[in-house]
Amino acid sequence: MSKPAWDKRAQRARELAQTISPASEILTFCANIVTFQKRVYQELSRSRKSSLSSLIPHLRELLGLLPRIGTAELSSAAHSLAEAPSRWDDLLTGHWESPSNNGMSDPKDAFVAYTLLQPYAEILAERNPAESKTTQSTCPFCRRRPVVSVLRGEGDGAKRNLLCFLCGTEWAFRRLLCAKCGEEDRDKLPVFTASDFDYVRVEACESCHTYIKAIDLTKNGLAVPVIDEVAALSLDIWSQQQGYSKLQPNLFGL
Ligand SMILES: [Zn+2]
Ligand SMILES: [Zn+2]
Repeated sequence: MSKPAWDKRAQRARELAQTISPASEILTFCANIVTFQKRVYQELSRSRKSSLSSLIPHLRELLGLLPRIGTAELSSAAHSLAEAPSRWDDLLTGHWESPSNNGMSDPKDAFVAYTLLQPYAEILAERNPAESKTTQSTCPFCRRRPVVSVLRGEGDGAKRNLLCFLCGTEWAFRRLLCAKCGEEDRDKLPVFTASDFDYVRVEACESCHTYIKAIDLTKNGLAVPVIDEVAALSLDIWSQQQGYSKLQPNLFGL
């Protein structure tokens, strides 16, 4: 399944930044980051061999960019990292090799690492697409957790896919199954919707108190799941107030 092109993702983030004021700042930042990731993706695509060390020049560039486009907090983290090039290899390798961040690293370091690792992983996954089962709760290619669920039209209904946080692989997943604990009981898998986002829903689990947002492309064909997921920030706030925790925070740690 081909993924929305980088330009389409950036454009969607810019459009939504105009209309969804509570998420305007994060979406503008997101558009800038996606534009940067597109360049990384294009440059890595040109070389046949990709290794983590090919990300180092891009890491240097990102650290120069963040003080101009990021928050004060990110900017100061970028300055510290820029002064410690001896940490760069470990930063990339550590986040690449660990299947989940598990809060082991500073969120700002994780943001820097994943901004670079996402286009890198996306290229590798495109070159070697993985087979998957509909009960597989982590990415068939890179074993990371899904960041969003995607509903696509199929016959009279919609089929549910999960979209990997890191490499962007999308794989088919059963409608009634919790990706965290495997709960299958319909009564324990409530779905919540909000009037301001009629095409976004919260898929929750009463057994493990986890949720994932779903973007329903049958209701809004213009949505770009990875971007609209960020835009529907208000649903995260609501879900967390109800006591659910997010299965996998997005790149921005939200
Ligand atoms: Zn993946
Ligand atoms: Zn569960």
